[in-house]
Amino acid sequence: MLNKDLEVTLRKADKNQLKAKPDPNKLGFGIYFTDHMFVMRWNRQQGWHNAEITPYQNFSLDPAAMVFHYGQAIFEGMKAYRDSSGQILLFRPTDNLERMNSSALRLCMPRIPVNAVLKALKALIYLDRDWVPYNDGATLYLRPTMIATEPVIGLRSSEEYIFFIIKSPVGAYYAEGFNPVRIYVEDTYVRAAPGGVGAAKTAGNYAASLKAMTEANKKGYSQVLWLDAIDRKYIEEVGTSNIFFVIGDQLITPKLSGSILPGITRDSILQLARDLGIKTQERRISIDEVIAAQEDGSLREAFGSGTAAVISPVGELCYQDRTIIINGGRVGDLSRRLYDNLQDIQRGRQEDVHKWLVRVG
Ligand SMILES: *Cc1c(COP(=O)(O)O)cnc(C)c1O
Repeated sequence: MLNKDLEVTLRKADKNQLKAKPDPNKLGFGIYFTDHMFVMRWNRQQGWHNAEITPYQNFSLDPAAMVFHYGQAIFEGMKAYRDSSGQILLFRPTDNLERMNSSALRLCMPRIPVNAVLKALKALIYLDRDWVPYNDGATLYLRPTMIATEPVIGLRSSEEYIFFIIKSPVGAYYAEGFNPVRIYVEDTYVRAAPGGVGAAKTAGNYAASLKAMTEANKKGYSQVLWLDAIDRKYIEEVGTSNIFFVIGDQLITPKLSGSILPGITRDSILQLARDLGIKTQERRISIDEVIAAQEDGSLREAFGSGTAAVISPVGELCYQDRTIIINGGRVGDLSRRLYDNLQDIQRGRQEDVHKWLVRVG
């Protein structure tokens, strides 16, 4: 039921409905939304239907809509960038939409027709093209989302869904500079267990992470480093990012075990590192190994990776009663190099050898 020839209706906002644009230097993250959105609906009889680009507007949902009760909700996070000539670029958008389908499968939700949705997404961005920021580091954040809308509170998978894409102009992540962060190694709460939904970008994972994040924030740490649910010693992710360590001459990241999110930035960084001739390893890595590497001087760098920040250098880990300072609390050479490298590709300043970019308009 993948309606390859999805028909998309265009309903443009009237001139008087258009919103005032926010100050491009004070965008923050996810606060402002553009004039238009994409919406389509699914039910068992019709598959995906009523696909429209419409003015940004509220939904009207029955209070019994299943998403409110049992949390069938999945999403994606991606960005549109401008190159130096003002052309709008997407980075690996097909990978995001395919990952949404993996999440859908895990949550018993319908698959989206990837090519048709990408085509609609490009039309949507082009229509709101004046919302794609021009200032340095700012981007248009894109949030494809799917929710269960059938009004039944008996527990089973919904037979009605809404898929939508909203867009938010966001400021440069590193407005205050590319500075390492302090991370709390979480040994009470867990993010995901084997066999659970850790590999899906599903709403409940984020609700479940708030308690640990809030407590870490109170202690002065910006994020938590998650450990595995069974042994509480193997490293999983950092906040909502994947994690990398440079130990000796190896770039190491936890392997995709099913309980961590398969990040597109993670995959891109592994590829770029290999292109640079750097040895990479995807394997289990324990917090004890990281501590031992710090003690013997072989731990050189650590950083998180994700669409929002690209790379987020880690300067300090707090684990139980120990403090692990990484690279003297400074940004490592490889962290900076990979950050520059990936940003240069995303903004069209470097040759796109892996064909990761998709042009809009
Ligand atoms: C989205 C996300 C990531 C990063 O994925 P990218 O595709 O690189 O943006 C990592 N971990 C979690 C838990 C996430 O939700």
